[in-house]
Formats: sequence, C-alpha cells, structure tokens
Amino acid sequence: MEKQIIYMDNNATTRVAPEVLEEMLPYFSELYGNPSSMHSFGGQIEAKIGEARKKIADLLNCSPEEIVFTSCGTESDSTAILSALQSNVEKRHIVTTRVEHPAVKNLSENLDILTGHKHRVTQLPVAADGTVDLQQYEDSLSDDTAIVSIMWANNETGVIFPIKEMAEIAGERNILFHTDAVQAVGKIAIDLAAVPVDFLSLSGHKLHAPKGIGVLYVRKGTPYFPFLIGGHQEHGRRGGTENVTSIIGLGKACELAARHIDRENTTVKQLRDKLENGLLEKIPNSILNGHKTARLPNTTNVSFEYVEGEAILLHLDRYNICASSGSACTSGSLEPSHVLRAMGVPFTAAHGSIRFSLSVYNNEDEVDFILEKLPPIIANLREMSPFRQQRHK
Ligand SMILES: *Cc1c(COP(=O)(O)O)cnc(C)c1O
Repeated sequence: MEKQIIYMDNNATTRVAPEVLEEMLPYFSELYGNPSSMHSFGGQIEAKIGEARKKIADLLNCSPEEIVFTSCGTESDSTAILSALQSNVEKRHIVTTRVEHPAVKNLSENLDILTGHKHRVTQLPVAADGTVDLQQYEDSLSDDTAIVSIMWANNETGVIFPIKEMAEIAGERNILFHTDAVQAVGKIAIDLAAVPVDFLSLSGHKLHAPKGIGVLYVRKGTPYFPFLIGGHQEHGRRGGTENVTSIIGLGKACELAARHIDRENTTVKQLRDKLENGLLEKIPNSILNGHKTARLPNTTNVSFEYVEGEAILLHLDRYNICASSGSACTSGSLEPSHVLRAMGVPFTAAHGSIRFSLSVYNNEDEVDFILEKLPPIIANLREMSPFRQQRHK
C-alpha cells in the first residue's frame, strides 16, 4: 500500500492528473509514430499535437501558431532571453528582478560568458511585501534595454506582479517583454489578447502535466532566434523530435486547468486561507511573507521566528506532510532564500519560513490535520532553540 501523503508542495511540482495520464498512454504504445513522417501513421500524431497546441492556446487566449514546445520552463526562459539578445545585438541591457526563479536569475548573471558580450543587468529590488515599484521599473528602462524579464507570479511567496502594466510600459518604448508565468498558468486567468507580452514561459509539471515539457509563447511578429537549431520541427523554432506524449498530456492539463480555474480561486483559496489564518492565530511570532492580496490563491509562505525551516520540514515529514522551506532549488544551502532576503525578512524569520502550496487535490481534513500538528512542533522546537532567550526579552 502506498502511504497516505498530504501533498502541499505544488509549486515544486504537481501530480499528473489521472485524465492526463490516460490521454497520454496510447502514444507510448500503439501510436508511436513520428509526427514528421509522411505516412498517415505519423500524420495522425501530428494532428494530435495540433489539438494539444489548440488547447494550450485557448487557455492563454492566443493563437496556436504562437505556441512553441520546449523541454521545460527553464528552456523557455533561456530561449526568450537569448533570442531577444540575438535580435538586438547592439543593445546590452536587461531588466529583471531580484526575486526571479534561478532559470532567469542565474541566466541573467551569466550572459557575458554565454554571448561573448558585456551586458548590464538591472535586478529591480522589491518592497517588504515582495512587490515591485512601477515607477522604479519605468525609470530602469533605457534605449539600451534589449529585454525585460519579470515573472508573473513568484514561486516562493505567490506574489503576483502587474505584468499588464509592465508589458505596456515596455511596449511603448519598443522593448521586448518576457514573463516567466510558470507559477501563474492554471492558477489565475491569463489573457494574452489583453496583456501585450512578447514571450511567456510555462511548464507542464507545475499544472498537473508531466515533468520535461514546457511552452514558450512567442507573439506573432516578434523577432525570434531558436535556442536548439536542428530539424524543421515547430516551424524551425525548436529543433528536435517532439516529446509527443508529454505534449498531449500538457494539452489535456490545459483543458482541465481552464475548467478548474474557478476552483483555484474558490475552493483552493478557501483552504489556503483557512490554513494561513489558522497558523497565524495559533502560533505566536509567526509572520506572513508576501503581499496579502496580490498573491496566487494556492500559496502561503509563513515565517516562524526562532526556528529552523529544515527542522520543521523533518517533523512534518514524519506525518507525511510535504511542504517546502524557501524554494526546492535553494534548499540544501544554508543561506536563506534570495527571495526572502530581497524582501528584507530578518534572518531569524527567514530561516524559519515554510511554504505550503495547495492544489485542487487537497481537502479540508488535510488542512485541519496540519493545524493540529504544526503548532506543537513549533512550540517544541522553540524550547530547544538557541534564540529562546531573545524571545523572552
Ligand atoms: C519551476 C519553475 C521554473 C522551472 O521550470 P522547469 O520546467 O522545472 O524547468 C521556472 N520558473 C518558475 C517561476 C518556476 O516555478
């Protein structure tokens, strides 16, 4: 028997929806043709990919021709940013934020090595609630700016950025705009007819499709250079035989996401709020990280002062509760997350931060269970904490 787990780490990855798996299975076995083949055995796969592309475009309200399949969110981010630099070789400035996912942050810090040219990178600071100042953003743009890359929603705190306004400001100055929407797609409504971004990244495994499939949306007319150059797949925009099964799975996941988006903002949000309010009420010296309302409906990031996040996670793990401290990519290092540091969260609080990220597969019993188990865990850890004396001051 599989042990019963309480999975609240959906910003790290999600379960593949049963309907998604079911849709994929025939394409591993009997329907294994290559979509580029001339015979109809392959041709039917090409048609199925077309259906998936349409479902993804429908979720984003864009045209299917604007969808390019990639291997992951990270590849989509790299493709957008490096493409913009190639199509603007005379421009050597990029604007991003201090709280981007490593897929954008670490790339932006390595552009000189990758391109052989010297670049200037502006990483915009954030306020204590994790939001960016629009005026400061506007002031950072210059004639030399090749691209802006700002995430739609933050993976650690769930804070949502005003992408529509930011993309409009960039557009007025003919500056390309990319958004890493990996955490936003499927959780909040995205309407690319109303939001003038040039590029948008999404990733399958953050919305109940498999790991290893991503999409880069490229607005019609945007100058574009492929990241993987090879065959004519994706109209020459991304070489390599298509990840057929995962593309079909992602199409199904986007169809489900379109249907579930209301539940994200009702059921899931109510569960998140119950968990968050319960923790803040029951546990003294606990602080919410991130803006209270400009936030994804599924994410809560709470700091429990004077305790170690890793220790909390180990205790939660004994009850098969899955959560995260900081971001999965940064745990393993002792430094608190770059996101919380950018927000100026004090050291004693940043170390004890826990992120719960919910999905439509969670229920109220699970929230109640965490609200019963976590307060005594924190109390016990604080008894042992070297900061305990400080707490009593
Ligand atoms: C997970 C994540 C990525 C990376 O996506 P992969 O498919 O794992 O490469 C990029 N950006 C954000 C905001 C993410 O949460």
